[in-house]
Parts: sequence; C-alpha cells; structure tokens
Amino acid sequence: MALRKAASSQKTRPTKGEAPETPKAPKTPSGRKAPHTDGLGARELAKIRGGLRVVWHRSRARKLCVERCTDAEGYGVCEACFGRTPTLKIDHVVPCGGVEGLIERMFCPSSGLMGLCPTCHNEKTKAERKALREAKK
Ligand SMILES: [Zn+2]
Repeated sequence: MALRKAASSQKTRPTKGEAPETPKAPKTPSGRKAPHTDGLGARELAKIRGGLRVVWHRSRARKLCVERCTDAEGYGVCEACFGRTPTLKIDHVVPCGGVEGLIERMFCPSSGLMGLCPTCHNEKTKAERKALREAKK
C-alpha cells in the first residue's frame, strides 16, 4: 500500500528534469552547422536520436527504473551516492553510443538503467564525454 501511495503522489508532482531534449542541429568539428543533405545526413540522424529519446522517456523500462529509485516519500534515491534528490536523472549504465544498434541499446531492460542525482549524472556524463574524446584521438 505504501508503494502504491508513493507511485500516485509521484504522478501529481510536476515532472522535473530529464525532459526530452529537443534535438539541435549538429555542428561540424569546425563549429558550423552540419549541411543539409539529400537523404540521410547528420541533421536527420540527430532528429531520429531525439525522436527515439522521446519514445524511450515514456518506456516501461524507464518507468521501472524510476519506481526502483523512488523512496516511500516520493523522493529519488541516487544509485551512485545513495543521496536523496527531488530531480532524479535516469541514465543508461552503458552509454547508447553511435547509430548502429542504437535502438537495442537505448531500449535495454531497466537493469541497464540507473537513477542518479544531478551531481552524479553530471560526473558520469563528463567522464563518458572525456572517454569518447580520448577514443577519437
Ligand atoms: Zn548521486
């Protein structure tokens, strides 16, 4: 019963953070916007990625992860530092990465997702971006 109460109080709370980001036009390494292409180009791929994110945001797996990381009082509990947070961020344990196999990786089971507080989420994102930069070198 307590669990049901928490779930219903969560629904009445305004959704904070983790709103699906609107995909921005990707930029070339020189900082200019990617050119329009006749067919599938960087812009289209960014929009597809954004569209997938919107669908993922409503997915059962993400919902299960939110439920797993929500305490009896409706607060999020970070799975990295175990701190309570009103703004839980749901992140993929393994970053989604490139386009090849993106749908399968993005729509992984809830065990492949983790709830993080904004601080831990920022640290994880920073580390992932750094690793990506290192890999490109
Ligand atoms: Zn944390």
